[in-house]
Amino acid sequence: MTGQSGRAAVYLIDCPDYGEETVAKALASALSALGGWEALLPEKAERILIKPNLLTRADPERAVTTHPAVFSAVCASLKRAGYGNLFFGDSPGAPYPGAERIAEECGITAAAAPFGAVQADFSGGREYPFPGGRTAKSFIIANGVLSCDRIVNVCKLKTHMLERMTGAQKNLFGIVYGLNKGACHVKYPNAADFAGMLADLNRAFPPVLHVMDAVDAMEGNGPHNGTKKHLGKLLVSTDPVALDVVACSLIALDPALVPTNRRGAMAGVGTDDPARIDVWAGGERLTPGEVRERYGDAAFDVYRGKADRGNVRQLRFLSPLLKKRPRIDPDRCVSCGVCVRSCPLEPKALAVPEGKRVPVYDYKRCIRCFCCQEMCPHGAISVKTTLLARLVDRNLK
Ligand code: SF4
Ligand code: SF4
Repeated sequence: MTGQSGRAAVYLIDCPDYGEETVAKALASALSALGGWEALLPEKAERILIKPNLLTRADPERAVTTHPAVFSAVCASLKRAGYGNLFFGDSPGAPYPGAERIAEECGITAAAAPFGAVQADFSGGREYPFPGGRTAKSFIIANGVLSCDRIVNVCKLKTHMLERMTGAQKNLFGIVYGLNKGACHVKYPNAADFAGMLADLNRAFPPVLHVMDAVDAMEGNGPHNGTKKHLGKLLVSTDPVALDVVACSLIALDPALVPTNRRGAMAGVGTDDPARIDVWAGGERLTPGEVRERYGDAAFDVYRGKADRGNVRQLRFLSPLLKKRPRIDPDRCVSCGVCVRSCPLEPKALAVPEGKRVPVYDYKRCIRCFCCQEMCPHGAISVKTTLLARLVDRNLK
């Protein structure tokens, strides 16, 4: 959230590696500026859910999930400050092999153990009405979230094919229980509406703090099969929109191109106005623009195109031909079928034709949610821009 002054503070801290002391020191400097956990969580007996990004099972070194060192630093800091009811959990992108097993394989369960943080129940969920939602009026939320009082969001900076980047706001999607996430993609099939739903989710369950692991970010074919990119930063804020705007500056992406930023601001989740964001970096106050000038990684591989969002107004009638498409590399495909099972549509928008090995898309049905690309365990699916989009949009190569 923004402060009473209407301004948001984002702490951008050097964190060159995942060493225990390095991360603890980086986090402590932001917390001290914020007045400590006590300023955010006055009741020490409350049940606190620490929410990492656990998209799928992956070695932490691949930068698919929140690094256990960052998660551990948050647990340690809470425990040291006297908070004893700590839980963690995330609903992964696919139901297999289950939230608990994924947390184990990503190193999160082991990182939680020394601080007594226990796995929250993500094996079931129930409806949570949200009549004040602008886009979404209810959610199916994991039981473990509903049984906690507060959330601390520990997200990861990665590319995302639907929203361009996933950061603080998008990470909260993991509190939606299991397969209901797929149903959300069907109900909110384009990037703007999906971002509107995410904004409502952030309003319904506002975390008290957002900590972003941008020590190693992910570029390219994210959020699962991209390439690790070292940025060496930790970002901390109580305002998820402002934090995501600053994260955009780090990767030299225009924040206005990220639907979650605008929709989050419109819904009152936070501010996307650079003039109202103070970035504190090493004791110095910067604007998001200055962050981009000083640290922005123009080589960071993230989608910067504009053609498929209707910006090329005179060509709007061609929009179906400008839309990005998921494509399968037959040489990498091992015919596991995960992509078909991950498609939220019924009937599916991709299927394996009889006698064939590799799934084939029905692009007329496909809503471009990119769940298939996100969940392919073998990096065989990438998202391609069309030739026409490349011809009309100078941002695309
Ligand atoms: S998930 Fe990937 S590897 Fe498996 S069938 Fe689909 S494209 Fe092939
Ligand atoms: S085929 Fe892939 S991108 Fe298309 S609707 Fe299904 S999961 Fe989404």
